[in-house]
Amino acid sequence: MDNAQTLDYKIAKAQTAQAALAAFPREKRAEILKRYSTALKEKREALAAIIHQESGKTLKESLGEVDGAADILLKTVADATLADVGNMTRTKERPPVGVVGLITSFNFPIAVAHWTIAPALLAGNAVVWKPSEKTPSVAFACKEIFDMCGLPGALHILGGDRAIGEALVAHEGVDMISATGSVAMGQGIKKTLAQKKNNTVPPILELGGNNGVVVSDKQTATQLEWSVEAVLSSFLASTGQRCTNTRRLIVHKNIYQKTIDLFKTKIEKFLSQPIAPDNAFGYSRLIDEDALMRFEQAKKEAVNEGGEIIFGKNLLNNRIEPALALMPKQTAIMHKETFAPILFITPYENFSEALAMLNAPANAGLVSGIYTQNTAEAEQFARENGAGHILINSPKGTSTPAYGMGFGGNKDSGEGEILNSADPLFPFTRRGKFSRIAQNKDVKMSS
Ligand code: NAD
Repeated sequence: MDNAQTLDYKIAKAQTAQAALAAFPREKRAEILKRYSTALKEKREALAAIIHQESGKTLKESLGEVDGAADILLKTVADATLADVGNMTRTKERPPVGVVGLITSFNFPIAVAHWTIAPALLAGNAVVWKPSEKTPSVAFACKEIFDMCGLPGALHILGGDRAIGEALVAHEGVDMISATGSVAMGQGIKKTLAQKKNNTVPPILELGGNNGVVVSDKQTATQLEWSVEAVLSSFLASTGQRCTNTRRLIVHKNIYQKTIDLFKTKIEKFLSQPIAPDNAFGYSRLIDEDALMRFEQAKKEAVNEGGEIIFGKNLLNNRIEPALALMPKQTAIMHKETFAPILFITPYENFSEALAMLNAPANAGLVSGIYTQNTAEAEQFARENGAGHILINSPKGTSTPAYGMGFGGNKDSGEGEILNSADPLFPFTRRGKFSRIAQNKDVKMSS
């Protein structure tokens, strides 16, 4: 566990390494990231085993996360590299911010951290990473691997809970914060930053969501069945412990009962067989007992607010049954993000009522989706939507954002974007100085 003294020590080490890293040419930093990516791939089984054991994620999903982290490193290098024009190589350079404080949540112990680690290091920053106290081990393993690939000291890990996270944010040696977690965490970080002198670089906050999907009656029966299948995968993904899970379903009253029946049949089928350890949904166990208590509490509140719970009553060994909550109208519990597999289903009569329900929660700023075969509805949905990522007839509900468009939340769900943004290094650089460097590669040079 880290404390104020070890925090000071690690930040001082990070500052020294950062100066060295920033003095390297961009290509040298890119080489370090490429070596690190190769090393993560070589150790993928061991790293995935750590994630599987600690977080409860299926082994398949854990392997996918490690591969994701390794790929993000390469993708960031590729995205930040401009193609040659004729015989001229081209680079855009802005100064790095310095030391980036990174805070991550339990549910993506490695992949999401690398959305920050890759661009921050490539831009010439050092990173001090405070992983979730629930899933820290893979972060320590990453540091060991990183230190063998390039510049020891440019990546540090802090062990501990929220208190050391707060100390990291407050530390005057930290020049920028990139954090993934709940809305409450984001609000806490903003308060701490407001007290700080060294607070000139905007933070990146990737926060909780309350993702809604509208199911329109303007679709054929065959399309409706496909739509339900898509939402089901997004509801069950990672046992409801993804920021992008579908949590609210707003269904036209004409197809409300039909939609519920389709869900019931599909969930019954899912529950009728032993759940394969590597099932397609990544359905596994909740992270801890607190999460189970919150799931139980959400069901109780739903019933108190006039809802009916289907499934979700039994424990399957150490897993839980997913729950459907049929809600005649949108109530208080549906304004919260219950980080567990519970899907609230509510009918609507007209489209503007559906949009009002979709947008009402302050935390409904991350992802939203619609299933419709009507162009005008799809266009209105996109226009009048508060979410940062809008998916129309997506094959995977809200759980899988479209590739290469950037990812970040609006409203209470976040600030800034990190994944796949068009200019990945920009958030990790200082504004003001901006150089565009072009060099004729045909002219022979020597040192
Ligand atoms: P959490 O907010 O409990 O903790 C996240 C991290 O923040 C942990 O490392 C924790 O120790 C630290 N922390 C908490 N309060 C802090 C504070 N005031 N100052 C500094 N550090 C603090 O979240 P969790 O339970 O680990 O993760 C689930 C949450 O994360 C969900 O709300 C989910 O939607 C969200 N999430 C969002 C994204 C995204 O990209 N938007 C991705 C993954 C998870």
